Amino acid sequence: MRDEQTLSLSMYTISNRELLIEFHMCYTLKVTKEEQWRKVPWKKFDKQIRKIQERIYDASSRNDLKRVRALQKVLVGLTSAKFIAVRRVSQDNRGKRSAGVDGIASLTPTQRMVLVNELEIDGKAESIRRVYIPRPDGRQRPLGIPTMKDRAKQFLLLMALEPEWEARFEPNSYGFRPGRSCQDARAAICQSLKQKAKYVYDADIEQCFPSIAHQPLLKKVNTIPRFSKQIRAWLKAGITFEGVTEPGPISPLLANIALHGLENHVAECLSTWSKKGELPKGSVASNGLTVRYADDFVILYPHVEVLERVVAEVEKWLIPQGLKISKQKSTIRHTLQKYNGNNAGFSFLGFYFSHKECGIGKTTWVANKYTREPLRYYLRQTPDKDRVQRHIDNIRDIVKRMEKRPQEELIATLNPIIRGWTNYYAFTDNKDTFRYCDERMFWRLYRYACNRHRSKGKKWIALKYFRSFEGRKWIFSTADHKHRILLYSKGVGRNVYRKVAKGRSPYDGDTRYWNNRWKAGVSSTKRYLHSQQNGKCEWCKGPIYFGHVVEIDHIIAKKDGGSNTKKNLRLVHGHCHDQIHGR
Ligand SMILES: [Zn+2]
Repeated sequence: MRDEQTLSLSMYTISNRELLIEFHMCYTLKVTKEEQWRKVPWKKFDKQIRKIQERIYDASSRNDLKRVRALQKVLVGLTSAKFIAVRRVSQDNRGKRSAGVDGIASLTPTQRMVLVNELEIDGKAESIRRVYIPRPDGRQRPLGIPTMKDRAKQFLLLMALEPEWEARFEPNSYGFRPGRSCQDARAAICQSLKQKAKYVYDADIEQCFPSIAHQPLLKKVNTIPRFSKQIRAWLKAGITFEGVTEPGPISPLLANIALHGLENHVAECLSTWSKKGELPKGSVASNGLTVRYADDFVILYPHVEVLERVVAEVEKWLIPQGLKISKQKSTIRHTLQKYNGNNAGFSFLGFYFSHKECGIGKTTWVANKYTREPLRYYLRQTPDKDRVQRHIDNIRDIVKRMEKRPQEELIATLNPIIRGWTNYYAFTDNKDTFRYCDERMFWRLYRYACNRHRSKGKKWIALKYFRSFEGRKWIFSTADHKHRILLYSKGVGRNVYRKVAKGRSPYDGDTRYWNNRWKAGVSSTKRYLHSQQNGKCEWCKGPIYFGHVVEIDHIIAKKDGGSNTKKNLRLVHGHCHDQIHGR
């Protein structure tokens, strides 16, 4: 088995050589760099990298560090890895693109080819552009945006390091990890609170990323000297991490590594106390739960005195990492009662969790298996009020800014925002909030219409801007019914979210499991096309994996009269879509 693996490792280097030969043929054929980029065999490249990453994951879960490092060295040297890194930073980050110090936000195919040839983990870092972004609390937050080259380099290293760490990370850390999201963090908290009201430690770390101590972090990363040198250079240049993945691809991973071990430490403390008999009667170590989303975390436990001890331990644990907990912002709360002057419940990632008492004579659950004692409260999770207000303010600003723009343009701007927001809160008790948002939205749009036509009467405005649709009156839509504002309350309904299974990672090679998860999270059209195409991209015929950028392409373009029917649609990779349209 062992020999076979070593052998196939060298086979990868050979197949890489083959790919190179294929490429050099392009050179001899005097094909321009632009043509070369268009001819990149992505399917082969993806497959090659994926195989190696799965092996790194596998070796890391067997604690075979020697093999992990050997594979990582191979990976960063591969041409295919460099191509994927450049593709990722120049094509795969759809949507917002921000320029680094070099002022480049996107690259032409020729520039991409040049970048691929330059890419090397050489221990150097270019300077970083500082941008200040206003925070919701009024302060400014610094954001360091690296240059395009550095971004590609970071991604190259990330491809090697991520599978290693994915095998090691703790089960209840959900931030910026492949295959995990806020929804999983929410589901984990729900599972823990379903049967019992608990005390919650809602922690806030002061200025997390800038204050992480570099030396202990590098020691923790524990990688080969060449990689360490590179990471040190980036840290010195001042890469930041502020809840956005875009600025530096590697910074979320570094933040996760710095805080890795917190959950295990809490669990260990609880189990030692349990063995010594120091826990209160009726509680066990497994009652505790630590859920972390990047630098944001909560600790749940049914007894306050134990929780206070845990908090002291956590503070002690954070000191060597150079981190401190902000005393003003961190609080202990209870999910059912008022505690220390704080209302019942707590907010995490924009969700508000609290317990509500049942009506008289009603129960929800048999809490204790032996005494069969019924539970007289139930868990309620709603959108956090602050977030709702912030969202409504945001909508107001957009509508004000677009006062002079036509109606369909306004609808086209607002609809994706509404859709995203309702999707985020789709799995909560959202009925009241959504109805409230609809009402606020209506008045906002009514005012928009009135401001546009000050001399007209109300009836005229109503007839021009509002129409009935599916039994509902006063829907903001254009005269031809083609553009219509979405309703928040359309997203109401108790949906079920399936939390990611414990110890799962997209690198574990279980395509079936991850395909099903991917399907559960996308629109019905994408789901339909995915099964029609047997899970493959219609353009390159390569498989669509979890984490790929996937887009819908019109076979006959819309401008040539192509329709929106499913027959005219196909599912393709983002980069394949670019190839189709010659970008
Ligand atoms: Zn494709």
